Formats: sequence, structure tokens, C-alpha cells
Amino acid sequence: MLEPLANESFLFLLVINIIASLGMAIVYATGQLNLGQAGFLAIGAYTAAVTNKLLGWPLAANLVASGLIAGLIALPIALGANRVRGIYLIMGTLAVGEIVQVTISNVDALGGLQGYSGIAPITLADAVIVLALVFVATAALMASPMGLQMRAIFDDEDAAAAAGVATRRVKVVAVVLSAAVVGMAGGLMARWLLFIAPRNFGVGVSFRIALFILIGGVHSIWGAVLGAFSVTYLLEVLRVLGNNEALPLWMQTLGPWRQVIYGALVMVLMKFRPEGIISRHWALRPTRPLRRLRRRPSSQLQAAPRQVSHPAPAGSNPVPLLQLGEISHNFGGLAALQDVSLTVDREEIMALIGANGAGKTTLINVVSGRYALQKGRICLLNQDLSHFRPERRTRAGVSRTFQAVRTFAHLTVEEQLRLGSLAHGGRPALSVAEIAALIGLADKLDTLPETLSLGEQRRLEIGRAIASRPWVIFLDEPSVGMNLAERQELAALIRQVREQGITVVLVDHNLDLALSLADRVAVLDFGKLLTIGLPGDVIRDRRVRDAYLGNLEVTV
Ligand code: ATP
Repeated sequence: MLEPLANESFLFLLVINIIASLGMAIVYATGQLNLGQAGFLAIGAYTAAVTNKLLGWPLAANLVASGLIAGLIALPIALGANRVRGIYLIMGTLAVGEIVQVTISNVDALGGLQGYSGIAPITLADAVIVLALVFVATAALMASPMGLQMRAIFDDEDAAAAAGVATRRVKVVAVVLSAAVVGMAGGLMARWLLFIAPRNFGVGVSFRIALFILIGGVHSIWGAVLGAFSVTYLLEVLRVLGNNEALPLWMQTLGPWRQVIYGALVMVLMKFRPEGIISRHWALRPTRPLRRLRRRPSSQLQAAPRQVSHPAPAGSNPVPLLQLGEISHNFGGLAALQDVSLTVDREEIMALIGANGAGKTTLINVVSGRYALQKGRICLLNQDLSHFRPERRTRAGVSRTFQAVRTFAHLTVEEQLRLGSLAHGGRPALSVAEIAALIGLADKLDTLPETLSLGEQRRLEIGRAIASRPWVIFLDEPSVGMNLAERQELAALIRQVREQGITVVLVDHNLDLALSLADRVAVLDFGKLLTIGLPGDVIRDRRVRDAYLGNLEVTV
């Protein structure tokens, strides 16, 4: 069984597969499944072969060229793929792999179908050094802010954009870097095989590279290594068994059936470990004690957060913080918002109320950039945000939470807060530890959201939103599903958020909560602003009673 580990050809193959798997991990970390990796492997292989044979370049130069050319060719594909998601992206990348293979088959200068030879050999040690370098670089990327953003996109692209992640850019960079790494694996492959042909880069190779990650797990780069190792090793063992006449006949029959056996094992694994062998829980385990140690002394985490003031707005005249001018939004023939104009002042808590379907969430989606602005104007401290993408609005200082809580399933509390803080846009921000203390999760920094209560998940979402030090935060029905104690904690948190100098726009059907917190109340009715004013005046307003409150007794 251990025979392959002493076989140099197997070890070469293993190194190449692990590098390709690391490349795949980079793109899959953003949730994009690229099934055209065999194409980039081929581009890298032929680049290395040509630069070695015709130009006499050494291995390092071959691999740099392989990575660069593969990355460059991936760029327009990445830009195009950005417009499509899911099955379309998979089909598109599959086609890319096919196109590359067919193209190479028809280029005589590359040997066509006959293949390309005359490449100089390398040693296994060279390949291992390349693997070590690629592993370290990939690990550094995954541990960097960019890696964190990539993983947030994997979990929830819209929520990532709301947290200030430039989702399109990050996805493009991931596709390009991934292709570059896979291209380098191809370069290494050419220098090892000494002869390459289009048949080395069929669609089966792309599927195999994807399987490395699906089997090993995407939430740790060790998953990429383990996945590549398991698949390569298993296939090799089955092949060796099939060719060994000294073994019992039943064992030899396993050889020809190796693809079937391997397929069945993959299906069993997917059933019992859908996240791959190394799930996020497993990935967190070994480093948890280390991270705890790094965060000492814990008393600092419990300390009250500093008061951090926003810089004074430019110009001496006080300008309203947020100005919404004549905003309209239609869904087909339905006018969800009609010429809504309102201003929000600095450091106020404004309650935005109205019946179901009045347009409150739509207004938040339009202001936060989740919906493109159809008509009207959005200004924050006189800066026109009307046509900014969501992440730019977050960086400019408009933050939000979602009606159905949207935390990132595979990011710890600490990572989610760190992600939010990346979008501070130069404003003086609280540290992650201070925000964790503010939202009462200082002792749960290493925890994944699934083990948090609903109230804690809501607080985490608010913490992530305030980590970017926004000027204004929109809270969309934060008290939904909370019990009385959780609502009281939420009310206290919202007051603390305002004490930090952050303006709050609160949408909530729990009027006791909303009106007890609000300085002013705006009422939407069928997409129109019905009235705006002090809580006491608003609840006495006959139009508000007719449209929303009815006979409900509300005290302020
Ligand atoms: P609720 O309090 O129930 O959350 P709301 O005041 O937030 O309601 P919106 O969710 O903004 O109301 O909806 C406003 C109107 O737009 C409703 O008539 C709703 O059915 C419609 N609407 C909202 N989102 C969409 C969508 N994506 N496609 C079509 N119609 C939509």
C-alpha cells in the first residue's frame, strides 16, 4: 500500500496535483467553481515547454511565465464570469477548458495532436521547493484581508458587499490568481513529463482538480493538500493493485474498476462530510488555543469601548447627515417607493415605521445600494452616493443589517468583526476587541455563528456593521424573533451605538421598542412618506392612526 510513496513519478504527480489543488482552493474560496482549470494547466505547460525549449529559460523563469500567461488569459474570462453565477459560470469555464485544448490541438508550432517534446528535465527537489513556495504564498493570501473577504463572499455575496467587500474585484482577482497557480502547476508538469500533448489536458483533469477541493474541504488550505493527496494516492493504489499479478485475483480486479470505486467513495464522503474532510470546525480546532493566547490579557476585552468621534464634516455650516431626495422604486408595475424625500440628522435615532409592504426594506435596499437607484438622489454629508456600488457606500459610511439575520456561516465572530472593520474608509474606528465588548460577545470571538443564539447573531450583525465606523446604520427589524430580555439588550446596544456618535435608522414593527428609542419617527404608507416628526406627535396623527396604528395603544 505504501509502494507509491517510494515512486518518484508518483511523487512528482502528487506535487503537481497539490499545487493545482491550491490554485483551485483560491478561486473556490469565493464560492466560484472553475471547471476549466485543465485549460490553464495546459497554458502553463505549453508556456513552460516553449520558453524552456526555444528560449532556454530555467525552471523559475518558466514558471513565472506560465503563471503570468495563465493569469493574463484568465483576466477577460474572470471579468466576463463576474456577470454570471452558478451553473452559467460552471458551463462557461468548462467551455474555456475545451477551447484551450482544441486550440492547442490545431497549432502546428505546438506539435498539434502529436504533442510537444524536447523539454529539459528537473529534479523532484526542484518540484518540492516550488510546492513549498506556492503553499506559503497561498497560506499568506488566505490569512490576509483579501482572503477574509474571499471567504465572506463564499458564504454570502450580498452580505459581503454590505460589509464593504468589493465583491466583483475580489472575485476577479481570485480567478486570475487561481489560474496563475494552476498555470504554474502546468509548467512544472511540462518540465517533469518532458513531453506534453493535448490529451493530457482533457475535461477529466478539470473535474479531478475540482474534486481535490470538494473532498479535502475549502475552509483550510490543508483541505486542498489532503484532497489532492487522497485522490491521487487512492487512484495510484488501485492502479498498482490492478497491475500486480502476485495479488489475489479479486484484488487485481479492483484495478480496472478504479474510477468506479473512486466515484463511489466520493459519493459516500459527500454524504457524510459535505464540507469535505477538513470542515471549518476542524480547521479552527488546532489554532484555537494559540489565538486565545494571543488575545491576552482578557480583562482588556471586557473594558468599556472608547468613545470614538467622527471627524467634523467639511465646511463650517452644519449639513444634514443624510439627504434622500425624491426616491422612487418600482418592481415591474408596483410602485414600492414614490418620491420619498427625507433628511436624517447627525447622531439621531430615527424610527422608520409603516404597515407590511409600506416600502421600508426597499428604502434600505435602495440607500445601501443593494438595489440600483431608479430615480432620486442620495447624499451623505453632501457627497452624492446615488450611483455608488454597495461596498463603496459602506466605505463612505452607510451601513446596514438585514431583516433575516445574515451572518457569515464559516467566519468566526472575530473574523466577521475584522471583516467589517476593513471598510472603515479612513474614519477612526473601534478595535475588534472593543466592538466585541460593546456587543457582548468578547468571550465568543472564536465561535461560529451557528452556535450563537438569535439575539447574539443579531448583535454580531450590528457589530459587523458598526465595525466600519459608519456615519449612519440602518437596522432592518432587528428585534424580530427576540424575547423580552433580548429586546432590552438590543435597546441598550442601540443606545450605545448612538453614544458612539453613529446615527441609527431603525425599522421595527415592535413600536414600544422603536418609539422608546427614537428621537424622530418617519412613517411610510404605500411607498409614500406620510409624515415625519417627534414620536408623540406622530402617534397622535390621525393619518398615522388610520394607515397603520388603528386603535393600538402606544406610549412614548
Ligand atoms: P415589511 O414590514 O413586511 O418588511 P416593508 O415595509 O419593508 O414590509 P417592502 O419589503 O419594502 O415593505 O415591500 C414594499 C412593496 O414592494 C411590497 O408590496 C412588496 O411586496 C414589494 N416588493 C418588495 N421586494 C420586492 C421584490 N424583490 N420584487 C417584487 N416586489 C417586491
